[in-house]
Amino acid sequence: MQLKIYNSLTKQKQALNPINNTVNYYFCGPTVYWFQHIGNMRAFFVMDSVRRAVKYLGYKINHAMNITDVGHMTSDQDEGEDKMEVASKREHKTPEEVAAFYWDICHKDMQALNIEEPEHICPATSVIPEIIEFVQKILDNGFGYITPNGVYFDTSKFADYGRLGGMNQNEKKFGARIEVDDFKRNPADFVLWVLAKDNHIMRWDSPWGVGYPGWHIECSTIGNKFFGDHIDLHGGGVEHKTVHHENEIAQNYARNLHQVVDIWFHLEHLMFNGGKMSKSTGGIYTLNNLIEKGYSPMDLRLFYLSAHYSKPQNFTFDALDNAKESYINLKKLLLKHKNSADKTEQKIIDDLKQRFTEYVADDINSPLALSVMWEALKRPASRDIYNLVLDFDRFLGLKLSDVEEEKTDVPDDIIALAERRKQARINKDYTLSDKLRDEIAAHGYTIKDKPQNEYEIEKKVV
Ligand code: AMP
Ligand code: ZN
Repeated sequence: MQLKIYNSLTKQKQALNPINNTVNYYFCGPTVYWFQHIGNMRAFFVMDSVRRAVKYLGYKINHAMNITDVGHMTSDQDEGEDKMEVASKREHKTPEEVAAFYWDICHKDMQALNIEEPEHICPATSVIPEIIEFVQKILDNGFGYITPNGVYFDTSKFADYGRLGGMNQNEKKFGARIEVDDFKRNPADFVLWVLAKDNHIMRWDSPWGVGYPGWHIECSTIGNKFFGDHIDLHGGGVEHKTVHHENEIAQNYARNLHQVVDIWFHLEHLMFNGGKMSKSTGGIYTLNNLIEKGYSPMDLRLFYLSAHYSKPQNFTFDALDNAKESYINLKKLLLKHKNSADKTEQKIIDDLKQRFTEYVADDINSPLALSVMWEALKRPASRDIYNLVLDFDRFLGLKLSDVEEEKTDVPDDIIALAERRKQARINKDYTLSDKLRDEIAAHGYTIKDKPQNEYEIEKKVV
């Protein structure tokens, strides 16, 4: 089945149309100057859901994610200081140490949330020669200019500038921004290469002088490095629509003289206390904060799944408690099916699978896909349902194949009954053995026979 995703550029759902069935997929990764909170993690969860959907529907995937470890200013419009340098001064570490420290934590959080590893994870600082080459190409093609502060993109040369973010001609001409660079030709022009001030730590030689790359150029360069001039799917947070992705589109065009990205998608934010969860507004939680409060990463994943990526999702502890309870319930129901040897009619299985797949394929509708999972789990116990839900989990990513019966401490009187039953079986007294099995069951335990009259006792799942 074809995957259809809402394209923010054309404002309609569009089917993927990859070459050789392989989807070139780019997603804007973290800026590693601070802890990533559960808002950021929603972005990476969405990145993962799209990746899983692509695979679930039978495409191959080639997926790249950048790590911003240089050149992202404290404002998205190239103003303020480089975030990495700010952190370096704050923490008395080198920018490399800052990046390694926060990326390590972010990476572990991603793994805990069962976010699959992209094929390419690429720090901006690892592609400086490629960035310089990209900027040179933009200049060669007549889309850039050099000022005493660095190299700039001339947005007036790209007629489509502003289309993604819905900027009108007036906004393009005058811009809503404060002028920081007297040498800029148009307010919306943005920096490709910044000439470093004397006290700037991160710096590289370039044809235009010692400096460092602007933020937007890293994503175009990394996309180009791994995918050349064709990207099927490019995603990121909704705030990237008006500046960062607008600039990526312009840069890609300036280098290749044609459109590079087929479909742009954007996820809405995780909200908290009436605003976007963000470090600057103060109200944030990290995954570790939640684990300390007794929640598991899968509780959070189930919470994320319950909202569509294109809608803002409100974070509350009540909602997270609901997800936690649901995950317990999910495990119980799943074990009921796992322990069953019964079957379900193939027609029913096919229908559930069909509807689940349709929801995944229709703009990654995770809430509706989840509803089909619950519908399946609520059916009479059957091993077929167990297998079906494990198949669904290739998209859901809830680690359902790890769900095992919890080993409980079995009370001594139950063990005594089991030992008596074992003796009865050795004596071939099956009437007594059956009677003792019923007695054990009446206490809420099941006994499973093993070779040589051995056994296993488990608490019954209700
Ligand atoms: P950053 O490290 O600031 O570059 O952010 C990493 C990713 O997290 C970006 O794709 C952002 O769009 C995204 N992001 C930041 N805050 C939120 C939020 N509250 N909800 C969802 N995504 C967010
Ligand atoms: Zn990016």
